[in-house]
Amino acid sequence: MLATTNTISKALSFTFKFCLPPYILSSDKTYMESPRRNLLTSSASRSPPREASIEDTGDGFITLQEWQGWGAVSPLPAMVKQIVEDLKALEKNIDAQMNFGGNGGKLQGDFKIQEDKKHRATYQALGDSEKKLQFFSARQIACRLLGSRGYLCHMCWLAMEDCMCSKVKHCTLWPGIRFWLYMHPKDFLRQNNTGKLLWQIFGVQAATLCLFGIAEDEEIMWDAFRRAGKSRVWCLYPNKNAVTMSVQDTLGHGSSEELECMPMMTDGDKTLNFVLIDGTWSNSAAMFSRLKEKAKTVWGEESIPCISLNMAASEMHKLRPQPSWDRTCTAAAAIGLLSELHLLPKFSSYGLDKQAEGVEHALVVLLEALTTRRLRMGRSITRKVRHNRDIC
Ligand SMILES: [Zn+2]
Repeated sequence: MLATTNTISKALSFTFKFCLPPYILSSDKTYMESPRRNLLTSSASRSPPREASIEDTGDGFITLQEWQGWGAVSPLPAMVKQIVEDLKALEKNIDAQMNFGGNGGKLQGDFKIQEDKKHRATYQALGDSEKKLQFFSARQIACRLLGSRGYLCHMCWLAMEDCMCSKVKHCTLWPGIRFWLYMHPKDFLRQNNTGKLLWQIFGVQAATLCLFGIAEDEEIMWDAFRRAGKSRVWCLYPNKNAVTMSVQDTLGHGSSEELECMPMMTDGDKTLNFVLIDGTWSNSAAMFSRLKEKAKTVWGEESIPCISLNMAASEMHKLRPQPSWDRTCTAAAAIGLLSELHLLPKFSSYGLDKQAEGVEHALVVLLEALTTRRLRMGRSITRKVRHNRDIC
C-alpha cells in the first residue's frame, strides 16, 4: 500500500500539478483558443499528423454510438453534429484533407488555415456570450472527436498502444451517490484526464460526464438536480471566496436509517449528487460561475452548496496530502470524498473505503501508463519534474 501511495504522490506531483491554465478566460468571456502549455500535448504534437479519415466509414460523420462510446450519456449534441458536418463540407470545398496533431484536437496544415478563418468569422458573428460559449465548446469537442478517431481507445482515452483497460477493475459505487464530472471541453479526450477513471470504474450512470457548454449534457445534469433538490447537490470546489462546508458539517448529521430508504438506483430523488469540476484551475472559475448562474434560474438563488475536503482524512486513506488539494486531479478529489464519507458513522457500511481504493488503483494504473508512454517517447521523468517546476 505504501508503495502504491508513493507512486501516486510522486506521479501526482509531477504529472498533474502542471496541468496549467490552458488559457485564461478574458473578462469579456472570450472563449477562443490560446496556447496551452502541456507536456503531453507538446510531446504528442511532435508525432506525425493523423488524418481524420483513419476510421472513417462512409460519410465520416459522428454517430450516436460513437459519441456515447467515449463516455457521454447525452444524445449527440446538435451543435457538435453541425460543426462536424461543416468541417466535412469545408474539406470537400477546399480540397484539403483534415488532419490533426497534438493531443487529438488540433487541426494542422492548410485545412487549419482555412478553417481558422471560417470558425473565427462564425464566432464573431454570434450575438451573445452564451452562444459563443456553446460554439466554442462544440467546436472543441467536434475537433477532438474527429482527431481521436482510430488513435485513442474509447474507454480509457489513451493512445491505442497504451490502452490500460485490461488493468482497470470495475466496481459498484454505492447507489446513494452519483458523481457528475463537469468537464471542460479542453479536457475531453485528454489522455491525462482523471475524471474519466470514475465512469470507467463505476459506469456512466454512477459517474456521469457533463461537458461544460454542451446544452444537451447540462440539461441532463440539471434535470437530475431539479429532481434531487438543492439539499442533495454539492460541488467540490474549494474556492477561497466560496463558502464551503466540510463533509462532516454537511453530511455528518442524521442517522443511517434515513439513508436506508434511499432507492437503490442512481436517479432516485434521494441520491446525493456531487459535482466534480474537471478542468484546469483557471477554467474551473468560469465553470463554477456557470453552475452558480444556473442554480439561480433553477433554485432562485445564486449559489450552489460547496463542500471542501479535509486532508487529514485523505491522509488516513494514505493519499499524500497535496499542498493545495484543489490543484490536484479530479480522481483524487473523489478518493478524498469517498474516504471522508466512509468515516461518518451513517455511511460506514456502504463500502465507500473499498470504492475509494478502486479509484486509487485506477489512478496508479493511469499514472503508470502515462509514465511508460513518456519513457517510450524518450522523455525522461526528471526532465519533466524540472520543467513542471518552471511552469508552476
Ligand atoms: Zn483502453
